[in-house]
Amino acid sequence: MKNRQTQFRRAFGRRDVLKLAGAAAASLAFAGRALAVGRLTLGDAEIVTVNDGTLTLPMSYSYGDAPQPELVRLLADNAMPTDTLQPDCNVTILKRGDRLAVFDAGSGPNFMATAGQLVDNLAEAGIDPAEVTDVVFTHAHPDHIWGVTDDFDELVFANASYHIGQEEHDFWSSPDALQAVPADRQSFVVGAQSRFEAIRDRLTFLKAGAEVLPGVEAVSTPGHTPGHMSYIVHSGADQLVVVGDAITQSIVSFAHPEWPAGADQDQALAIETRKTLLDRLAGDRLRVVGYHFPHPATGMVERGGGAYQFVAG
Ligand SMILES: [Zn+2]
Repeated sequence: MKNRQTQFRRAFGRRDVLKLAGAAAASLAFAGRALAVGRLTLGDAEIVTVNDGTLTLPMSYSYGDAPQPELVRLLADNAMPTDTLQPDCNVTILKRGDRLAVFDAGSGPNFMATAGQLVDNLAEAGIDPAEVTDVVFTHAHPDHIWGVTDDFDELVFANASYHIGQEEHDFWSSPDALQAVPADRQSFVVGAQSRFEAIRDRLTFLKAGAEVLPGVEAVSTPGHTPGHMSYIVHSGADQLVVVGDAITQSIVSFAHPEWPAGADQDQALAIETRKTLLDRLAGDRLRVVGYHFPHPATGMVERGGGAYQFVAG
């Protein structure tokens, strides 16, 4: 925020700055109400998706190893920019009985200027972070775990229990983790370790198939990270699958699940996982929520043209 204000001040006189700031605040407040919170009912559960903001990723980072002419055509056909991806970040919230659970914790204040809006948007959704009973992680990347602490290194969800896959925790906690990731992702290791430290006394570890909360099943979906987990929320005959980053992009991951994605640590394993998951989601007609799908990020998976399609809803 400070940086943005400084840039504004350099570019405009003080009077204009005040005028602009007022206009920006008003339009953000309006947009926030319409765009930051999604809701649906799943049997006896209420599902809320809350936007944490967006990431800004060069296309060369995300899909540099995909076949470029086909990629450019696919992006253009879907009216998407071809140089940069700006995915939303969506935290899923489950309200049922006496549990108020959040799946992933957002980026917090220190990852990207365009993300870290979860706490503001929770207020928009009428949710007090102090009332959150459980924080369930899909994986330990910055945009999913750094938001457990605020600007003052205090816990955002001060009264919650925290849950993460055992393998995911062990990978990022290992003394060898710095050597196991590319140089440009070493901050991911340091950041994960400091967040684990902040929640050390409240952290429990999951194996695949575990019931993390009543009616919520952990499913192993590795590749994006070594111990990535997805979660199936069961509610009578209804189910919702929180896929995290096992499926990241609502156009490309569906049209070409076989294309390598730069954010995936083990690209071959991530492709296998993505194909298996899409097949099951389409075959069983399961509703899905993707962390980086366009907000509100819920929908169904349809088969078609030898691949898949995400149908929001
Ligand atoms: Zn992510």
